[in-house]
Amino acid sequence: MTVQGLYALQNGFMGAQRSLLFYGDYSEARTQIPITCYLVRTSDAVILFDTGVAPRAVPGLLRNDPFARFTDADLLVHRLDTLDLQPANVDLVVISHLHYDHAGGAALFAESELVVQKDEYAYAQYPAQFFAPFYYRKNFDLPGYRWRLLDGDTELVPGVTVLRSDGHTPGHQSLLVELPESGPVVLAGDSCYWQEHSRRPTRIARSACAGRRGGRAAGPSRPSCAPRSARWRPPVFGSSRACRCVRS
Ligand SMILES: [Zn+2]
Repeated sequence: MTVQGLYALQNGFMGAQRSLLFYGDYSEARTQIPITCYLVRTSDAVILFDTGVAPRAVPGLLRNDPFARFTDADLLVHRLDTLDLQPANVDLVVISHLHYDHAGGAALFAESELVVQKDEYAYAQYPAQFFAPFYYRKNFDLPGYRWRLLDGDTELVPGVTVLRSDGHTPGHQSLLVELPESGPVVLAGDSCYWQEHSRRPTRIARSACAGRRGGRAAGPSRPSCAPRSARWRPPVFGSSRACRCVRS
């Protein structure tokens, strides 16, 4: 087992329409959601899961979104700094999908390998009209950057595996992290927003949270799921000011 630690890095809050988040909920009402990134330390690599929003997008969000909350500490570079890391220290940047609140910080990682599903990368170039406002080309049109385009489930290093979890977008992926003491955790990105989705899973949520591979049911080592809106608690990892995401 080579996974040494998992850290949740809060990247601010934003508003989202409930109909985007709750299966079968057609309300136009908006609710506040956290923007989350995760850092995985292993003996082989430093891996980041998602990159949050671009710093250049923050002023506009604060102006136009009454649910938006950002502090200087929320900037990804400052969150990484709390772990004594700089972007150049990150080996792999796994991006769940290329929406602006997940791929916004990709440009920070010119020296890393950016990992997405090839179907997501292709879809982002020409998204459906209703989804186009979520894909900002500036976030992923990065000449000279190293992209690794995956086709399905892929083990990155021992203990860290990408799981294809389509539904929210055509090429969404989640990350299975096998923690030596706490057990397996799935970082579900936007495929599973709330804890209630993992308890009453929809077809989409099951694909990311039930620990299935190749359509098989979860075994005894069913992983816990870290939905985007799991409960957030104050710093718990040593002296780090980063937040940890904990299921209740
Ligand atoms: Zn999304």
